[in-house]
Amino acid sequence: MKTISLIGSTGSIGQQVCSVARRHADKFKIQSIVAHSSAELFLQQVKEFMPKYAALVNEEMGRAVADQIPQGVKFGYGEEAALEAIAYGEVAFVATTGFSGLKYSLKAVELKKDIALANKETLVCGGELVMNKVKGAGIDLMPVDSEHSALWQALNFRKNAPFRRLIITASGGPFYSYTDEQLEKVTPASALKHPTWQMGAKITIDSATLLNKGFEVIEARWLYDAPLEKIHTIVQPESIIHSLVEFDDGCVMAQMSYPTMELPIQLALTYPERFDCGLRPLNFEELGSIRFLPLERKRFPCYDLALTALEEGDNFPCALNGAGEVAVRAFLDGRIAFKEIAKTMEAVLSKTQRRTADSYEVLKATDLRARALARELV
Ligand code: NDP
Ligand code: MG
Repeated sequence: MKTISLIGSTGSIGQQVCSVARRHADKFKIQSIVAHSSAELFLQQVKEFMPKYAALVNEEMGRAVADQIPQGVKFGYGEEAALEAIAYGEVAFVATTGFSGLKYSLKAVELKKDIALANKETLVCGGELVMNKVKGAGIDLMPVDSEHSALWQALNFRKNAPFRRLIITASGGPFYSYTDEQLEKVTPASALKHPTWQMGAKITIDSATLLNKGFEVIEARWLYDAPLEKIHTIVQPESIIHSLVEFDDGCVMAQMSYPTMELPIQLALTYPERFDCGLRPLNFEELGSIRFLPLERKRFPCYDLALTALEEGDNFPCALNGAGEVAVRAFLDGRIAFKEIAKTMEAVLSKTQRRTADSYEVLKATDLRARALARELV
């Protein structure tokens, strides 16, 4: 039985972690659970999984639901209470969205807990810091993002180190073949309709701008210690091949399945073992052809900005992320147009002051400053 601290239980990933835990109740126990403000769903989850500890980050909602928490479950609210949840499980499943994930990941390292990492911003903002600490603590960090899980599987769970290229696939998002004029007219509703994946709002918009793919290059850079020259991206519109690794002898290993996050979620918890995860077998005859298309850096400004931030290094990716969080919120609220997301991020990046990203405090200060700059622009 593996015990889990689930952070971000009410989100798209969090709910799928619950589904995996339900399917294999003999293998997993959700020992602690954290959400931010979705109080009703949070309560349902607490009643179903009966964790030892539960916390809501939103204090007002925390006070409102406190008397409905079942007996035997310790309950807290507020940020500090949420961080305490990490102490309970053997594995910290970090499935919050945005910069908030970093402090949970760092807490898990401090407490020497293995990490199942869905929150990509942990590595986008603090990749070098976190990976150094993970190595120092001797803990395991299991990727959950589907592309990075695919790379991990193709690398035989990192046992076969030497590779020539990591090849990250992208669906291309809903606007891959849009013209400039068509992009002018993109609405939040159309950007929230992803062709192949069902996800939270932030990552869905990031998939439409392809910022998400840039973030995934940064994630791969730190997870697999790969310089940018060794990371290649291609569009695979059907989302059947989730990524590939090319080895020194020219062999290419691909990981394939219908699109589902339950496979990478479950594998992060059971590897190297594999169990049923409710996935239907690939029907190759029905699939027909699988296409590959180029992902040109200069065509997608958000993707380009993420690679630029990685090349700049230090606290630049963290600043880019902070700006992106504000810009995407503004787009979803109808305050800026789709194309202004990239413009906002570019303006913030150009005003970023370089600092060595060697502590949480530096990253937090960078994030706050980037958000403030972005808010002035939107
Ligand atoms: P969602 O927006 O659907 O869910 C976010 C979750 O985090 C919710 O449970 C939310 O709580 C909680 N949360 C928000 N802020 C905090 C905080 N400060 N402390 C604790 N919990 C918080 O996001 P997704 O599930 O889509 O994505 C989660 C992460 O996984 C992101 O980093 C994303 O990039 C990554 N990812 C997601 C994929 C997907 O398929 N969805 C695929 C690959 C990666 P509440 O609802 O109560 O407000
Ligand atoms: Mg992904």
